[in-house]
Amino acid sequence: MTPRRTRIAIGLTAAALVLCTNRAPAGTGTVVVVANGANRSLSSSVEHGVTFVSVPDLARALELQTEWDARTRTLVVISGETEAEFIAGNTLVMVGDSTFRLPRGPVLRAGELLAPADALPALFSLLSPAALLWDDRERIFRTPADFGSGARDNVEGDARPNGRNRWEIDRVVIDPGHGGRDPGTLSVEGVPEKDIALAISVRLAQLLRDELGVDVVMTRTDDQSVSLRERGLTAVRAGGKLFVSIHCNAIDKAHVSGVQTYFLSDAETDEARAVARAENAALMYEEHADTLSEGDDREMEEILAGLVSDRFLKESQELAALVQRELVRGLRTRDMGVHQAGFFVMKGTLGAMPSILIETGYLTNQTEAARLRDARYQARIADAILRAVREFKMRYETEPGR
Ligand SMILES: [Zn+2]
Repeated sequence: MTPRRTRIAIGLTAAALVLCTNRAPAGTGTVVVVANGANRSLSSSVEHGVTFVSVPDLARALELQTEWDARTRTLVVISGETEAEFIAGNTLVMVGDSTFRLPRGPVLRAGELLAPADALPALFSLLSPAALLWDDRERIFRTPADFGSGARDNVEGDARPNGRNRWEIDRVVIDPGHGGRDPGTLSVEGVPEKDIALAISVRLAQLLRDELGVDVVMTRTDDQSVSLRERGLTAVRAGGKLFVSIHCNAIDKAHVSGVQTYFLSDAETDEARAVARAENAALMYEEHADTLSEGDDREMEEILAGLVSDRFLKESQELAALVQRELVRGLRTRDMGVHQAGFFVMKGTLGAMPSILIETGYLTNQTEAARLRDARYQARIADAILRAVREFKMRYETEPGR
């Protein structure tokens, strides 16, 4: 070996070591995706406590094509007519004609583009029929079959388009958070979340009826206490096709503002779990005897037992992604992302209809609290949700067999 060659060999070894370290830093377990009945490992990296995974690896696991342009550092994921464009360092991902915002820009590691794992299920729901969930604790992507109670196969009369019947989204259930004894969170000036949630909901109901011609069922129309179970029961009994729960957020950091949209899942990040815990605290205010008859209670038990399924997981993710996109666009507020978390109020509805929960802003932020109280701002929130529901309705009603 000439001295020159030796230098090259050492150089390569050093580079390889650096790449290995980047791909699997100490303490980083393997990220696995369980899809199409097979387990596949994905390249991953933990950056500032956030797990990033290889987008091409994930695309391959979902049997999607990819194209990489090293010059522009752009990865295109192709799903039929739809393409998603990931650019290194850019938090915006173009998906078809829409923009999707990642919490952090994709990074290049060992020549591969890695993106934040917890944001990818909602994004990929726009590209692939395989609904994924990110399990932050296990650091694994799962498909619903691995999570599910098996209800998917047992429920008769699937309302989704399946080539036999057309899925008509003709009834939307709106759930104004809290009410009555339960004020929800309080703004700095003491305005309760329950009032803002109701005002936005009433406005949204009117828009959905007028603009889309759909039936709207409200879980409450005034300042009354309604248990979380009763809300789910109302939605399922009414034969709702979508369930939209409206809330305001709270956090112990006064500077934090922005919107978040959630879909139901037991797999969640610590942050999402904290929000779900706060919203589930509404259970504290519930006195079952007051609001729910024994028969209702039994019916709800049955709904919870039989229909706590992930039947509408993919649709819920997709609706959440659309709503989040429109809210960020329409309100010009901070994009706090689409998340999955275990909200009790949606446990009764997810098996029956796509279900989402919207945190329209932070009452703990003085500026945002003032905006949320403003009727014009509430109308803009309702407008944004309307646009998302309209697009969702169009996609599903015009694409039978989807
Ligand atoms: Zn709430």
